[in-house]
Amino acid sequence: MPRRIARFLGVATAAGLAAVLLSGAASAPARNPIRPTPAVAALGTVRISGVEYTEARSFFNRYGLKPTGLEAGSRLRLESSWTKVEIEANSREASLNGTRVFLGEPVVARDRSLFISRIDAEKVFSAILRPAGIAGAVPALRTIVIDPGHGGIDPGKQHAGLKLDEKTVALDTALRLKKLLEREGYQVVLTRTDDRHLSTDKSEDLRRRAEVANEAHADLFISLHFNAVPAVDAPRVQGTETYTFTPQYQRSTADGTRLAADRVAAPGNRHDAWNAVLGYALHRQILSSLKAPDRGLKRARFAVLKFVSCPAVLIEAGFLSNDAEARRIGSAAYRDDLAAAIAAGIRAYDVQLIAARR
Ligand SMILES: [Zn+2]
Repeated sequence: MPRRIARFLGVATAAGLAAVLLSGAASAPARNPIRPTPAVAALGTVRISGVEYTEARSFFNRYGLKPTGLEAGSRLRLESSWTKVEIEANSREASLNGTRVFLGEPVVARDRSLFISRIDAEKVFSAILRPAGIAGAVPALRTIVIDPGHGGIDPGKQHAGLKLDEKTVALDTALRLKKLLEREGYQVVLTRTDDRHLSTDKSEDLRRRAEVANEAHADLFISLHFNAVPAVDAPRVQGTETYTFTPQYQRSTADGTRLAADRVAAPGNRHDAWNAVLGYALHRQILSSLKAPDRGLKRARFAVLKFVSCPAVLIEAGFLSNDAEARRIGSAAYRDDLAAAIAAGIRAYDVQLIAARR
């Protein structure tokens, strides 16, 4: 029996399982063996500006969340004993248990009620609040592919004063993470184990990283990066961002307008709902372990995520452009903590998979 399963069974008393689930992603344990019919289908949708929406209060009611505050019909707070959600009219940013989660469509106010888009309801909120209800087979979790960003001719982002290259700290963190995950019994493959690029052509380089995952029959793909902003913004911008691939028909977090690419489905869309579960578990764990500022769980059509056929996430684990954060990233102890946080986030995700299989 893999060690990670043995470890899981060690806590799999009813109370232990509930404690793990509640501390991890604050999701309700699936006690009822009968899966609910898809919440949104039962509630019905309305079309607003060409997008399907569903009424937020009734939707969240199905997950045991009751409104505790509605400010002038524009901001809605809902709570159950283990979950808190906040949404705001005209905003694509929601708060889920205090974590920033970006949606694909803005929340809309109508007749003093708030509406969330059908795709956000299904692929963000339903997925994270009740992973056991996600349609289709529950993914396995044996082989994990870690992708240290950049390498070789491509240093990635840099901090000149500290002589830090993104490619170096990403690889170092990946090697630390590999050791931790192997100790847990997972099989781990890296897209590169030394300072090299996979192609001199950037888009080919990114595509090959995804191919490594697909050829290894990866069950989970995690791309590790560090970010930077222009000098004028550097002092105030720090923290962690976690990205999953943008669902079809939705806008990426950074996009203000709709693009032709929004309509195209990619292999990276096969696991939209599980991507959200994975991204949320990892993002929360990194924030709580490292006390890092929360830049949000976001969506982007990054090429490495686009071609991967398993649940996948890209972590921007801090800003090399920020002096204080760059100094932290430059320390081996911090990269150890970061690797440990990511490993713990993967375990939290695995616990959700195991619970969903029951
Ligand atoms: Zn990068």
